[in-house]
Amino acid sequence: MTKKEFKAESKRLLEMMINSIYSHKEIFLRELISNSSDAIDKIYYRALTDDSLSFDQDSYYIKVTADKENRTLTISDTGIGMTKEELENNLGTIANSGSFAFKTETELKDGYDIIGQFGVGFYSSFMVADVVTVISKALGSEEAYKWESTGADGYTIEPCEKELIGTEITLKIKENTEDESYDEYLDQYRLTAIIKKYSDFIRYPIKMDVTGQQVKEGSEEEFEEYQEEQIINSMVPIWRKNKSELTDEDYENFYMEKHYGFDKPIKHIHISVDGAVRYNAILYIPEKIPFDYYTKEFAKGLELYSNGVLIMEKCADLLPDYFSFVKGMVDSEDLSLNISREILQHDRQLKLIAKNIKSKIKGQLQSLLKDERDKYEEFYQSFGRQLKYGVYSDYGTHKEDLQDLIMFYSSKEKKLVTLGEYVSRMPEEQKYIYYASGDSVERIEKLPQTEIVAEKGYEILYFTEDIDEFAIRMLMGYKEKEFRSVSSGDLGIQVDESQKNTEFEEKENKELFDYMKEVLAGKVKDVRVSKRLKSHPVCLSTDGELTIEMEKILSMMPDNQNVKAEKVLEINANHEVFNSIKEAFASDKEKVSLYANLLYSQALLIEGLPINDPVELSNDICKLMV
Ligand code: ADP
Repeated sequence: MTKKEFKAESKRLLEMMINSIYSHKEIFLRELISNSSDAIDKIYYRALTDDSLSFDQDSYYIKVTADKENRTLTISDTGIGMTKEELENNLGTIANSGSFAFKTETELKDGYDIIGQFGVGFYSSFMVADVVTVISKALGSEEAYKWESTGADGYTIEPCEKELIGTEITLKIKENTEDESYDEYLDQYRLTAIIKKYSDFIRYPIKMDVTGQQVKEGSEEEFEEYQEEQIINSMVPIWRKNKSELTDEDYENFYMEKHYGFDKPIKHIHISVDGAVRYNAILYIPEKIPFDYYTKEFAKGLELYSNGVLIMEKCADLLPDYFSFVKGMVDSEDLSLNISREILQHDRQLKLIAKNIKSKIKGQLQSLLKDERDKYEEFYQSFGRQLKYGVYSDYGTHKEDLQDLIMFYSSKEKKLVTLGEYVSRMPEEQKYIYYASGDSVERIEKLPQTEIVAEKGYEILYFTEDIDEFAIRMLMGYKEKEFRSVSSGDLGIQVDESQKNTEFEEKENKELFDYMKEVLAGKVKDVRVSKRLKSHPVCLSTDGELTIEMEKILSMMPDNQNVKAEKVLEINANHEVFNSIKEAFASDKEKVSLYANLLYSQALLIEGLPINDPVELSNDICKLMV
């Protein structure tokens, strides 16, 4: 029989499994049992919706059998089984190959990392076994097949005999090594403990033959061994349990078993509603961003069960886009089993559940923010962008729901603050909520435009993400306070005495400013004496709605309409540079035009905008140097 090769990625993962020094190898059993449970879900659902299949509650189970003599551990199920093609395709590739491929070579070297972070599934059996044999007979198929592999060098597949539909996986358990004992995976007590720990809530019975000792019949002192099949797990699905009976660890195990994520969730939400609509749900707010979260490939959704039977793996209609990071499941007895995806979308019950879930998530996030600020900030680092996107999307329909969940970095607090916190601290005379945009906190901190606002003692929110300014535009204001960019024409700040001379300077030097405007025609709308600059010589500001930051973002969009902000070049009349310009204007107009262009380029650089002609700028600087 010829051996078939694994795909390159699978081979790599397998090699890692075989050589793994991971300390929780026991999780292989959770992975195999979880696969079996999924397979039973599938046949169970089929049987319920297809009358031609007979259906008997007792015929669905998982069985774990340990054989110490032969060093084998077998996990068999009465699930839907696999055809020959499915054996080849499903067991020859990695389910999460996307996330796997995403990892770097060095990260992959560390076996611990991989296993902790990714659902390695079936392959994890190679952590404890030298040989893995899978015998399976698929529903609707007459033949059974045997898949076998001794590791990374490939696998064989051949027809075989199997009476019942389902799958049987036999692991030839590794011999003990100096550092590691594998015997424990053949020990009934240890196996029972592992099953209890990770798979207690599996809804189908997990059976095991257990040997016990009993007093020999007709004797009082002598004992004899007996064997008995026991059901190890409690079988009540976790979402049907009482919250008070469950520990954080139970919820975490469920998260891992279901492969909702490979991180440790920040929060779980267990919902049991028994009102106009009845449902149970277990939802999780993950800690880390799934690797594909901000890509088109990411699909949101919750698992949907109808009275305990899985009817959809990812029901997108249950979650609004701005909460798309939420993972978990919903079970409702009010949903029909036979419901099609199209009908489901319009189902009134489902809509009620979705609405209810939305407000529960919102409530949980609010209390996380209020009571566990650190955790909320951690969450916000990962998913804040999505919330802000939610404020902006659908023409601001959801802004009321989200405005108290968004945060921005504060110039004063030097950390993230909410809009509510900002507004509550505003001095009475402060008219606007000020913000400054830029690539990073460090860059914004240095922006000349922030000078006057900061000097007034007003707090400034730093916008470092593309979505920020668009989101607050949609909000318009918060608690009747409008947002205002520190670069905007009118800052609504009373100018003090020292600044009064701006008008005077502007009148006095009208010709100079007109001249500079001419020089910069087409580049800026106006050249003015600045009311906001204190120590810096020059900056750009904008008139009108569109800010420079928005211009930058819009110009990167594929349908770039070439929209431009109305830029104003502001000159600090109290700066020595201004004197030089005035002097030049009296004697050497050429020089003024050189100065104007230079100042304009400087202002562009400060904004992080590209220079039209860097060579010209370089030549201009040289002119000044010689
Ligand atoms: P995952 O469970 O994350 O998809 P696995 O590597 O554990 O990844 O399994 C790969 C696929 O093999 C499963 O998605 C399923 O289609 C199939 N499979 C695994 N175990 C069984 C089983 N006991 N019965 C039927 N199909 C199975």
